[in-house]
Amino acid sequence: MQRSEKRVIVALDVETAAEARDIISELRGEAGAFKIGLQLFTAAGPEFVREAAAHHRIFLDLKFHDIPNTVAMAGVEAARLGVWMFNVHASGGGEMMCRTREQVDAVCEREDLSRPLIIAVTVLTSSDANTLREIGIERAAEAQVLHLARLAAECGLDGVVASPMDISAVRNAIDEAGFLIVTPGVRPEFATNHDQKRVMTPRRAVSEGSDYLVIGRPILQSKDRVTALKKILEEIDAAD
Ligand code: C5P
Repeated sequence: MQRSEKRVIVALDVETAAEARDIISELRGEAGAFKIGLQLFTAAGPEFVREAAAHHRIFLDLKFHDIPNTVAMAGVEAARLGVWMFNVHASGGGEMMCRTREQVDAVCEREDLSRPLIIAVTVLTSSDANTLREIGIERAAEAQVLHLARLAAECGLDGVVASPMDISAVRNAIDEAGFLIVTPGVRPEFATNHDQKRVMTPRRAVSEGSDYLVIGRPILQSKDRVTALKKILEEIDAAD
């Protein structure tokens, strides 16, 4: 298997289901999965998620964060929509994450559904030491990332979203075999950085230990999206 295979998750950061359908049909051969985030979900709703998940691997990126029971039940509904992966904020706490995994496991078993991967968001890549201090967290961002990643692993979650700069620290901190690292903020050699501040090339992110790369604008804003995605896959395969 090529190193690049199924690794790129294309972020469907668009306004309408129609645009998302166009992107999916263009990139279905090369993309490992498609990500539906807050914008498209709010515009197009769960029906679009169900439709897309019937044919493709869908990462539902809604970053659930609420009381344990509410997040667990939202996770159950994500599983019923047929998504391949969804995420929760680790800062919602251990009880929230453990309860979500247990309830999703139980319902998937009972209803014979495939169990989605459950991924924790640690510290948003848009947060820095000032943002953390503002909300009462005095630790450095990287220490907080590792603290929350360990908590997610203890709750039996399948992995974390980690910024490119945190990949190797997370790999070193977590012993669980198969613990996944999903990385946004990746910029291929041919692309601009947009508003992502701490970026890394796909090749380097995979070499450092990322399992899945979430990439939006470098593909979506390209005149030829298929070629842009193929170039990214080639860059990954050239990784040493
Ligand atoms: O266009 P770009 O490649 O920057 O898109 C990255 C995607 O990953 C967006 O959908 C963004 O919301 C998401 N994301 C991120 N940083 C995080 C978590 C998610 O950029 N920490």
